[in-house]
Amino acid sequence: MYEFEYRRPASRSAAAAQSTADTRYLAGGQSLVQSMKLRLTQSERLVDLGGIADLQGITADRDSVTIGAMTTHAAVGASADVRRMIPALADLAGGIGDPMVRTMGTIGGSIANADPAACYPAAVLGLGAQVRTDRRTIEGDSFFKGLFETALEPGELIVDVRFPALHRAAYVKHKQPASRFALVGVFVSRGPGGVRVAVTGAKSCVFRAKPLEEALATSFTPEAAKAIRLRADDINSDLHASADYRAAMISVMAARAVAIAATR
Ligand SMILES: Cc1cc2nc3c(=O)[nH]c(=O)nc-3n(C[C@H](O)[C@H](O)[C@H](O)COP(=O)(O)OP(=O)(O)OC[C@H]3O[C@@H](n4cnc5c(N)ncnc54)[C@H](O)[C@@H]3O)c2cc1C
Repeated sequence: MYEFEYRRPASRSAAAAQSTADTRYLAGGQSLVQSMKLRLTQSERLVDLGGIADLQGITADRDSVTIGAMTTHAAVGASADVRRMIPALADLAGGIGDPMVRTMGTIGGSIANADPAACYPAAVLGLGAQVRTDRRTIEGDSFFKGLFETALEPGELIVDVRFPALHRAAYVKHKQPASRFALVGVFVSRGPGGVRVAVTGAKSCVFRAKPLEEALATSFTPEAAKAIRLRADDINSDLHASADYRAAMISVMAARAVAIAATR
């Protein structure tokens, strides 16, 4: 690990004031600290967000749930409001990593990190969420830009994520057995805006699978999902799974997600 300076502000404004061009925010540390230990990431200053009370917590109104950036996966998975209003999101959070990762890791850290196999990005796209920062509101559809790349500008702080309440939704992932990241994960939802299908683990960045969305808009059934064969040309291929296998698994995971969502 390279040397760095550590700060722990007590407010958002202090965090922004302490942020320099070479600063990184520290949330649960579940991705950042590993990457610093391996010297893949170097930063002159870490600004720990753990002391900022108003970045934590879950609030629900009639038609949405808003989750503070520093809310842990465990808190989202255990939230009665999330379970009641968006059960698919509670399931997703409860299935991330292992108990230690869920106790430390946060929603803000997960989406800012934009790991290509992370689960939350699929929920952000699959539900059409909004990401609120200390500077603006970013639509989920335009938040993820590429491999570990988002629309965030240097020093921009995620404050919370607002998800529309939606029952008819589900997330199913084919797990990498060691880490439990998604080899392929599919989030399906059907709401007033239509059908959304978001896929993680299969490309450099989470994406919406339009052929599946079109098929499911006509027939919201597992059979309709299974009948879609996605092209494998630009799908990830590595020692865990070939591109052809991942492409086939997208339809299989989508079919399983539809089977769950349709009963909600
Ligand atoms: C063994 C293991 C298994 C895992 N399995 C899964 C899994 O199955 N599914 C899954 O989705 N994830 C998985 N993860 C990742 C986990 O979900 C992490 O919690 C997540 O990637 C990062 O969240 P964090 O709070 O730890 O962020 P950190 O590691 O602290 O930060 C990550 C990045 O986000 C930035 N950041 C943090 N908060 C903010 C903010 N509010 N505003 C702007 N930038 C911010 C940081 O500067 C850093 O660049 C796993 C991790 C481990 C170690």
